[in-house]
Amino acid sequence: MKVTVVGLGPGAGRDLTGRAREALEQADLIIGYTAYIALIREAFPEKEMRSTGMRREVDRCREAVEAAVSGKDVAMVCSGDSGIYGMAGLVYEVAQEYPPIDIEVVPGITAACGGAAVLGAPLTHDFAVVSLSDLLTPWDLIEKRLRCAAEGDFVLCLYNPASHSRPDHLKRACAILLDAGKAPETVCGYVRNIGREGEASVLTTLEKLGEEPVDMFTTVFVGSSRTKVLSGKMVTPRGYLQREG
Ligand code: SAH
Repeated sequence: MKVTVVGLGPGAGRDLTGRAREALEQADLIIGYTAYIALIREAFPEKEMRSTGMRREVDRCREAVEAAVSGKDVAMVCSGDSGIYGMAGLVYEVAQEYPPIDIEVVPGITAACGGAAVLGAPLTHDFAVVSLSDLLTPWDLIEKRLRCAAEGDFVLCLYNPASHSRPDHLKRACAILLDAGKAPETVCGYVRNIGREGEASVLTTLEKLGEEPVDMFTTVFVGSSRTKVLSGKMVTPRGYLQREG
């Protein structure tokens, strides 16, 4: 009858919203990527759950939509937010091929928010989010977006900074940002395993960021020209005190 696309938050545990929990409780069937199903299985031991491997996104959405068409209330889970590099859009697209069903999108805390809170307050002013994965986006377009963000002096939040098949994407992105005029001493930071076991964060500068060991469980933050380190944290002033002075 219905597919609810549920964002679990970065860690799924304490970051799960009340609305997301409710949606999972109400579902007849929960579908998701193996690692995310593992995160919630303990909390919902009685639920029917189906997990699918990485890169099986279209199959997973078809399975969810088909189960809904056959009369089930299905929850499709994503890490972080369900719409930000999540499955919500694909569920709508796939559903076009089937008889009409209800679709509800339940938001979650995205890695940008979760990671920003760990680092301090880097996103207090305008920011842009760019994924460095070129699986679905040509690298030329990623490069253009990085250059535009640099030109606009946005704080940048980078998702998918690296994977086994593209270990050097962050290094390439840093070179582009420096070439586009960002200062080598720009304050940067990254957070691994936000909200999960082994959460770790590092503060650095743009000049050194490219050499840092990031992986697909890391979110990277590149400051604007106003971002600074205060009390050991990455902070972008909104401008309140500067206005008074
Ligand atoms: N829908 C997710 C994003 C999926 S894209 C969200 O809203 O957060 C996958 C990328 O998100 C990862 O490569 C990483 O950059 C980031 N990410 C997701 N969960 C994370 C976590 N717990 N810790 C650090 N980064 C995370």
